[in-house]
Amino acid sequence: MKNIKEKISYLQGLAQGLDIEESSKEGKVLSGIINILEDMAEQMEDIGDAQSDLEEYVETIDEDLYDLEDEFFGDEIDDEEMIEVKCPNCKEIVCFEADIVEDEDLIEVTCPNCDEVVYVNDQDILNGTNDDEAINNKKEDDL
Ligand SMILES: [Zn+2]
Repeated sequence: MKNIKEKISYLQGLAQGLDIEESSKEGKVLSGIINILEDMAEQMEDIGDAQSDLEEYVETIDEDLYDLEDEFFGDEIDDEEMIEVKCPNCKEIVCFEADIVEDEDLIEVTCPNCDEVVYVNDQDILNGTNDDEAINNKKEDDL
């Protein structure tokens, strides 16, 4: 914008140097055009400033929105992986979050339809291959 203002200033100086009479018809038109150019350059400068402010503001909104999305959807995305198990009792498909498999606490997934246990995150218990010691430890954990 500075460049345009400089060019207009140069034009103004040139018009003065060429001694263009403002009283002449052509001189009035020319000085009128130059004045309008000056006004336009100033208005464009204002618009440019407003535009920069707006861009900055939108940027901060975008950042805030990103934070909100992260807060709102972040956990959901992490937990997106689901495991499907068919209930052995009623054949209902039961879905649960995959990360309970890694959970340290004993978690039983029951069928919402018939309350049958469809998954236990300790596979030894589910398969009935526990030795007594492991079962005892598990009981202690539950207390
Ligand atoms: Zn069931």
